[in-house]
Amino acid sequence: MRQTVRLGRLAGIPVGVHWSVLVIMLLLVQGLADVILPRGARGYAPVVYWVVAVVVAVLFLAALLAHELAHSLVARHYGVRVRAITLWLLGGVSELDGEAPHARADLLIALAGPLVSLAGAGVFAAGAAVASVLGGGALAVTGLVWLAVVNAILGVFNLLPGAPLDGGRVLAAVLWWVRGDRAAARRAAGRVGMVLGGVLIAAGFVEVLLTANFSGLWLVVLGWFLVMAARAETVDVMLRKTLAGIRVGDVMTTPAVYGYTSQSVADFVATVARRHPHRIFPVLDLDGRLAGLVSLTRLAKVPTADRGTVRVGEVVSVPVDRTRVLDPATALVDAAPALLSGGHRLAPVVIDGRLTGIVTHRDVARATELAELGVTPDRGGSAETTSGTQIPADPGR
Ligand SMILES: [Zn+2]
Repeated sequence: MRQTVRLGRLAGIPVGVHWSVLVIMLLLVQGLADVILPRGARGYAPVVYWVVAVVVAVLFLAALLAHELAHSLVARHYGVRVRAITLWLLGGVSELDGEAPHARADLLIALAGPLVSLAGAGVFAAGAAVASVLGGGALAVTGLVWLAVVNAILGVFNLLPGAPLDGGRVLAAVLWWVRGDRAAARRAAGRVGMVLGGVLIAAGFVEVLLTANFSGLWLVVLGWFLVMAARAETVDVMLRKTLAGIRVGDVMTTPAVYGYTSQSVADFVATVARRHPHRIFPVLDLDGRLAGLVSLTRLAKVPTADRGTVRVGEVVSVPVDRTRVLDPATALVDAAPALLSGGHRLAPVVIDGRLTGIVTHRDVARATELAELGVTPDRGGSAETTSGTQIPADPGR
């Protein structure tokens, strides 16, 4: 997820926070300090409510993190690499690389998060009970009760049986276990997720109509988000099935089309950009190493009069350290989502820092269509195809 701030590592897993969490934290602290805490415990100074509200909100965030950490640790236990945990507006995301080895692992990974949330609810409820027995302040009791309720809601809501919620993964894992067809199971969970999203949207509108209170819109937003995510999930399942076994190296274009950092913009446009059907191109430095990507829109911003003197290297739109490069051995299905939806729709394929080829969203679409015809791309017949690793010395190509 983009626009995240790295918080650090937990059990070796990078933890980040999306900026939208700030919004939710502000809303939470404000709601706690202005409404919930004063209602449960009267008579404190406003500043006391605000301080306690901040503490409660931070504890809430920690509970959210514990939920995701539970998913991640169980996943890692079963050999699934965890790239990162990111907290954002609607909760947390554990970014897993690869898939669970079997249905039981999938089930346990999915269950771990909600179970930790429910356990957290139990701990906070017990804390509230102990605090009230020991004569702890009404403020502490109110805060703990709120944390218990919210964690219980989090656990139960996430167990609703539609993808992409945890309950959807539970459903998919159980269906996979029972019927033995993983793709069909995930598709079914995706469909249930779409229905669930539709129900939430409807419920939200009904609430707005019946209560004349706009808080129901929150349900509408949540439902809409669920429908979108469930649809993405079913598309992903279909892609995975269609593109199984196809690697980036099978569909990439070689030799790659590219420019040189030392080339003038005018020369690059005349000899490369206008001759190839791309909107963004890799750029190599004089040692033949990838220096980044340059887009037609960026080139167009160079004033016409300067295009003979400005070098392509001066106007690189994506520097190499921010360029997503692919390895020929990468499964195409893992590269496909970014190519189909990302901003660039072209990725350089690199071996040991050397540009080997390029892959575009068209290559993915073509491979998908060929796969539906029951064949894989045959690169032997293409005029553009040569052995993978060579780079022609002529910068004009
Ligand atoms: Zn979860």
